[in-house]
Amino acid sequence: MKKPRVIVLGGGFGGLALCKALRRSEIEITLVDRQNHHLFQPLLYQVATAGLSAPEIAQPLRAILGQQENLRVIMDEVVSIDLTAKKVIARAHVLDFDYLVIALGAVTGYFGHHEWAEHAPGLKSLDDATRIRRKLLLAFERAENSSDPAEIARLTTIAVVGGGPTGVEMAGACAELARKVLPGGFRRIDPASARIYLVEAAPGILNTFSTDLAHYARERLEKMGVTVVSGVPVKEVGPGRLVLEDREIAAETILWAAGVEANPVARALGIELARGGRIPVGTDLALAGHPGVFAIGDIASCTDVKGVLVPGVAPAAMQMAKHVATIIKNELKAGTRCPRRAFAYWDKGNMATIGRSAAVAEAGGLEMRGFVAWLAWLFIHLVLLVGLRNRIAVFIQWVYSYITYRRGARIITGVPEDGNAPPGG
Ligand SMILES: Cc1cc2nc3c(=O)[nH]c(=O)nc-3n(C[C@H](O)[C@H](O)[C@H](O)COP(=O)(O)OP(=O)(O)OC[C@H]3O[C@@H](n4cnc5c(N)ncnc54)[C@H](O)[C@@H]3O)c2cc1C
Repeated sequence: MKKPRVIVLGGGFGGLALCKALRRSEIEITLVDRQNHHLFQPLLYQVATAGLSAPEIAQPLRAILGQQENLRVIMDEVVSIDLTAKKVIARAHVLDFDYLVIALGAVTGYFGHHEWAEHAPGLKSLDDATRIRRKLLLAFERAENSSDPAEIARLTTIAVVGGGPTGVEMAGACAELARKVLPGGFRRIDPASARIYLVEAAPGILNTFSTDLAHYARERLEKMGVTVVSGVPVKEVGPGRLVLEDREIAAETILWAAGVEANPVARALGIELARGGRIPVGTDLALAGHPGVFAIGDIASCTDVKGVLVPGVAPAAMQMAKHVATIIKNELKAGTRCPRRAFAYWDKGNMATIGRSAAVAEAGGLEMRGFVAWLAWLFIHLVLLVGLRNRIAVFIQWVYSYITYRRGARIITGVPEDGNAPPGG
């Protein structure tokens, strides 16, 4: 008898957890991803700020899943999905499915201003992170070669847009790079005098955290020399200039951490989408009228059985994956569709690092801040990172940076012939 075909789109947190959960099932799984690796996005900001190198936070999908005999990995880009014909259309493949799990994640969102992407890159992939690192480091090199004080000030100004965890982590890491890591190596400029802005449209930063923790994070950032500008929306972004409602900031490096929207492949489904272009799913995580098609993780819009809107975080994607795997396994066992349990999201809490030795964390009504929260952050991220080699490498890098204040990934590659970073990195 022909085995049921399960197509999984995306080898991120959701897709990978789903494939692993189905490893013992009598099915044919095909995992399609346009990258050859699984990426640990929570540490991307450290690659962007020269703390870690790219291979330390990624792992080839074929290496992770190579032993799983019921699974084949295809490296290809999905362009469309035909729900009626039950086909996935990728650049080089057309794949038929019995079950389809869409786990294509999110992309950086610019509130409809996609033209800003060129001047204010977002952080979603390893390519983004290495482009940002090049842009950041090249700006200091160009400042060292300049004798114009205004140009030096512009080149050494960094503006991070978005006061959520990613923006806070980026701003803190940029401040440490400029104040602690780069000084000493330059002769004509003082990298420690770099200006770092964190810009947020809402009245405060870290809005998903308690007011106390958000205040603590703000104070800590300000102590590190970050100017936090909140309650001021961005009006325009141009080359080297960030225009806010009340001022203009001349900054060579503008980084966008202000929002995400669903992967645009969702639009190809031809169904009505939810906020942020997400795919609406029921509590069984399937699309209405298509019980064999599921969406999980950042691309899905799901209100769980308790009425909670499931957030776009890694634990949610993994929990959704396990839920879908259980549904598929139950139906395979029963040989037919059977009643499905409703998904219940388990909120494991929130965390953000602010810099060396400081973080904020909350879980189950408990709050932590400072060094203890930072140690908890380090531990959890090491445990969740895929691959023993990566865990060891990252641990060694962290200990080395902590003791020496040095960062191991400061090499600039891909410098264009004119020595300037192209727009966007
Ligand atoms: C900078 C950053 C920091 C973050 N920090 C945290 C954190 O600290 N804690 C936390 O819980 N969450 C964090 N998140 C969010 C978390 O990474 C996401 O919620 C999680 O990755 C969602 O998992 P997913 O499986 O839905 O999508 P992803 O993990 O994004 O995976 C999507 C996969 O689909 C592939 N793909 C995309 N488009 C196509 C296509 N057209 N064809 C083929 N393949 C495609 C991608 O290559 C990728 O492998 C962070 C995100 C970012 C960007």
